[in-house]
Amino acid sequence: MDETDNVQTNFIRNIIDADLASAKHTSVYTRFPPEPNGYLHVGHAKSICLNFGIARDYQGKCNLRFDDTNPDKEEEEYMHAIMEDVRWLGFEWNEERHASDYFDHLYMYAVKLILAGKAYVDSQSAEDIRSTRGTLTEPGKESPFRNRDIEENLGMFQRMKEGEFPDGAHVLRARIDMASPNINMRDPVLYRIKRTHHHRTGDDWVIYPMYDFTHCLSDAIEGITHSICTLEFEDHRPLYDWVIEEAGAPCHPQQIEFARLQLKYTVTSKRKLHQLVHEHHVDGWDDPRMPTISGMRRRGFTPASIRDFCDRIGVTKKDSFIEMAVLENSAREDLNEHALRVMAVLRPLKVTIENYPDDQVEEMLAQNHPQQPDMGTRTVPFSKVIYIERDDFMEDAPKKFFRLSVGREVRLRYAYYITCKQVIKNENGEVVELICTYDPATKGGDSPDGRKVKGTIHWVSADHAIDATVNLYDRLFTHPNPAGAENFIEHLNPESLQTLTQCKLEPSLQESTTEKHYQFERTGYFVLDKYSKPGEHVFNRTVTLRDTWAKIDKQNA
Ligand code: ATP
Ligand code: MG
Repeated sequence: MDETDNVQTNFIRNIIDADLASAKHTSVYTRFPPEPNGYLHVGHAKSICLNFGIARDYQGKCNLRFDDTNPDKEEEEYMHAIMEDVRWLGFEWNEERHASDYFDHLYMYAVKLILAGKAYVDSQSAEDIRSTRGTLTEPGKESPFRNRDIEENLGMFQRMKEGEFPDGAHVLRARIDMASPNINMRDPVLYRIKRTHHHRTGDDWVIYPMYDFTHCLSDAIEGITHSICTLEFEDHRPLYDWVIEEAGAPCHPQQIEFARLQLKYTVTSKRKLHQLVHEHHVDGWDDPRMPTISGMRRRGFTPASIRDFCDRIGVTKKDSFIEMAVLENSAREDLNEHALRVMAVLRPLKVTIENYPDDQVEEMLAQNHPQQPDMGTRTVPFSKVIYIERDDFMEDAPKKFFRLSVGREVRLRYAYYITCKQVIKNENGEVVELICTYDPATKGGDSPDGRKVKGTIHWVSADHAIDATVNLYDRLFTHPNPAGAENFIEHLNPESLQTLTQCKLEPSLQESTTEKHYQFERTGYFVLDKYSKPGEHVFNRTVTLRDTWAKIDKQNA
């Protein structure tokens, strides 16, 4: 590859470089193999960026393969969601494949193993198989059925396939070594009887192949050169290689393991994500607090920011936890560059400008991105009654408070200087309105007499504002490693969602779509929620402008 390419290298790419240099391979073929039993999460994004990224950078190919050999938990819905997520991340597969496409092939390979004396039908109960497997310090015990003759094995396996036996009556096992120091090599189960409807093969099969048998052979059938998986499969590699060799597969893909992505303050296990969804701790798989790709999309993360995040964390063989801040910073950087700047008041306080003409409306010129003039300008209507952020007013303000207080002057972004004259309170003593005056000479935000104000605040014209609901998010868990806690549900953050109603947005946001990203000036990056209805705008905060957690994490470190 060209040295000037801005491509991150890693140990996997080094292996591929060496394989190409030695002519072990002349091209690169990878695959991303999700099990369609849930929605993809940020950990999968790492695997997607790795597998598809390698195919892209080496002008190779990458398949999307659904690893669908466990019909209990798999559904079409998940398959479609997975395809949508991979495409949204910016990748396209060479071919869509399904492990279930290979059921006939796999059966044939199993027969080959039986004929070679490398597999046998075991009629022990599941419990007996488990209890005779041995431990790390003790070898396993051979099954009394281990020496069945080949003819009998063949006949039994065929009858298993034909549905002659009840579920669990027999299994097909590899005949390897019950004393192997690697427990995975102690005659692992290759097939089990299971009468479950499969979402693609229907009721054609009552026997289903196990992962360790299916995965390697699927790789070989597709001509995968480098089969990249996570570290927990390292101990399965001898079995991967054994099956490929003994079954006489058409090629020998190389399994390479890397460390899973683990993010602090969240969980990335589909089983746990399922629990969050099904127990209604969150509002579905695409809840913006979820670490799922669909959740992150709904929250306003961009594909580029997730790809950038995956580049930054790199690929290693060492397990570690990544700070949420790394993901959020990737989002901030991308959004800072591309998000349109707009004004929105999240917690409105009414301001009446007493010396402003009653029916006058002025269109104030505003920049869509002050650092990027080519993103253009827009106008924002200004009138006598506006809303400002409640936080931008303080009654007994300290000297260093540069925003509004009685007698103090601030700049309204793109508009005028205003001075607060009077505070109106309700019967509970709460401030409900400010009476201000404006200086007509300061239009556009500067004073001709050189008078300076320290504070600039945002505002929205009351008559022109769009009402909206705004969701603010915090971390879903208060525990940095909820998956490691006894009961992760107990560590859910009760304040992970704050919903503000009656927020006031500038009218240009009428045109917002879920594809457009905004910086609400001073309050963060936002996106229209995908379930927002016309006339009932709902915006989600993707990230704040700065990392508000940095300090807290430091204290906890
Ligand atoms: P889960 O435990 O969430 O179900 P999984 O590994 O069983 O995860 P699969 O659908 O089998 O999920 O995964 C598809 C691919 O994504 C696999 O190659 C897997 O190794 C990879 N993958 C899954 N989780 C992560 C993660 N946290 N980091 C990196 N890669 C991952
Ligand atoms: Mg899995």
